Amino acid sequence: MTRPGAAEAKRAELVRLAQALDAAGMMPSKSGNLSCRAGDGMLITPSGLPYAAMTPGDLVWLGPDGQVRSGGRPSSEWRLHQAIYRARPEVAAVVHTHSPKATALSCARRGIPAFHYMVALAGGDDIRCSDYATFGTAELAEATLRALEGRRAALLANHGVVAVGSSLAAAYALALEVENLAGQYLALLASGLAPVLLGEAEMAEVRAQFGAYKRLG
Ligand code: 13P
Ligand code: ZN
Repeated sequence: MTRPGAAEAKRAELVRLAQALDAAGMMPSKSGNLSCRAGDGMLITPSGLPYAAMTPGDLVWLGPDGQVRSGGRPSSEWRLHQAIYRARPEVAAVVHTHSPKATALSCARRGIPAFHYMVALAGGDDIRCSDYATFGTAELAEATLRALEGRRAALLANHGVVAVGSSLAAAYALALEVENLAGQYLALLASGLAPVLLGEAEMAEVRAQFGAYKRLG
């Protein structure tokens, strides 16, 4: 067996994580998409292809201006991914899901406040919800960038979640954590108990503590 090259390994990881998110119920009805930087462009999941049947060869390689270099039809959200790579040099991977609980919250256009210290994993004192824009548009890309300012994750209004990271694994893990937090927050709201939010100083301490544990990515 030959050892796969770096590009092949990246493709395989991207498909493996997309399939894991799908199997976990985060990508209903073939929704969501994933990408990572590749050369001066990006590798991105194809549009509307069932994840279970996806192979590394189905991924689409786009150049910096969005031109297809190899593969078929890229995700309809390629502009959103491109806008993030252009604006955020530290980001190496982008994961977009329609995970059920975070998406439910996004339909109330509510972000996730600092009700739990793990919110700090997204980089700030809250996880914002973006303004609404139609899927696949440059307007959604701009709204997403605004919601992501100083953050590694955001909810997309009436749509889903975007999480970014310095690696595919980091963006994937954060997308799952956002869903976990959204579930806890929804349960808390549904219980009728009032959340006690952590304050700025408490959240700054949490971030410092995470930094010490090198948990950010
Ligand atoms: P694609 O299948 O084109 O990636 O679209 C899914 C999606 O989530 C659109 O926002
Ligand atoms: Zn979507």
